[in-house]
Amino acid sequence: MACRFCPQDRLVKSYPKGEPRDLSLADFLTVLEKLPSHVRVDLSGMAEPWLNPDATAMAILAFERRRAVAVYTTLQGMTPDEATLLIGRFGSRVSPETPWVIHLPDDEGNMVGWRPSETYRETLSRFLAFARLQGPDGLSFMTMSATGSVAPALQDLVRDTLPPFRGISRAGNLNQEEFRPGALLAAVRQEHALLCGSTPFFDHNVLLPNGDVLLCCMDYGRQHVVGNLLTQTYEAIHAGATLGTIRAQAMTPSAGTLLCRHCHNAVCLSHRDGTHWRLTAAAMWSPDVAAEPIPYPLQPAPQQPARLPRPGLRRMLERVLAL
Ligand code: SF4
Repeated sequence: MACRFCPQDRLVKSYPKGEPRDLSLADFLTVLEKLPSHVRVDLSGMAEPWLNPDATAMAILAFERRRAVAVYTTLQGMTPDEATLLIGRFGSRVSPETPWVIHLPDDEGNMVGWRPSETYRETLSRFLAFARLQGPDGLSFMTMSATGSVAPALQDLVRDTLPPFRGISRAGNLNQEEFRPGALLAAVRQEHALLCGSTPFFDHNVLLPNGDVLLCCMDYGRQHVVGNLLTQTYEAIHAGATLGTIRAQAMTPSAGTLLCRHCHNAVCLSHRDGTHWRLTAAAMWSPDVAAEPIPYPLQPAPQQPARLPRPGLRRMLERVLAL
């Protein structure tokens, strides 16, 4: 099964041959113990997490260790009993900051290879009942359809229309030509100093089954492997040369081949009229915008008329200069 909006073919091609395809429970525990307590654990990824038979056990481990946990799943591979267990034991932990997002097959066939089954329908029914009876903030259902319609085989279960979907190029990893016009936002090229819109520290990373840590969930081509959490500590990765290079490229306008330069989630910074960096658009971690967006291509700064000193200062200067 594949999703047209997730370029998994790029990941498959770039993933080292012979390395594990599934994260083992033991390695998950090793990594969990290395993560500082502020780091949210997302059961998500560049493939469906519940296609790993240990996914529910991993979820239990993370929740029971009082970690902040988010879940992004298509429900493929999750049994109805697992759904009941997760909802019953951990449903109270769903929140806007730790969401559970259920990605459903749609009427456009964007979830390639999906086939309806009674098991799938029953698993989904348990989440729909959870939404109906408890409706926690942070539980949501989505499709990748422009109209928000689910696959015909599920329309008797999901009667509400879901929000319409428009994709992004996953930082240039999707080919616009393979989509109908308008299905993806127009490609971007960020030329200025920038940060990630999700984090100012480039620490929304993705763990692959072999322990490799990617910059983020856009990096399907494994362009920025920042370290390995099975062989390094979290701190060593974030103090390391690869992330240092990423930060240097991010702060230097136009520099390098940084993935973020093609990403809709990047936020640019400006020095305009000053010497301090200021955001030019809202970020998830800072809704306050303090600078005007900069037009691109760069325009020369308008000439400011020479400012006269304030009257008091002028009088003092006149006295000093007269000496
Ligand atoms: S700006 Fe985009 S490419 Fe860069 S780290 Fe954030 S999500 Fe990833």
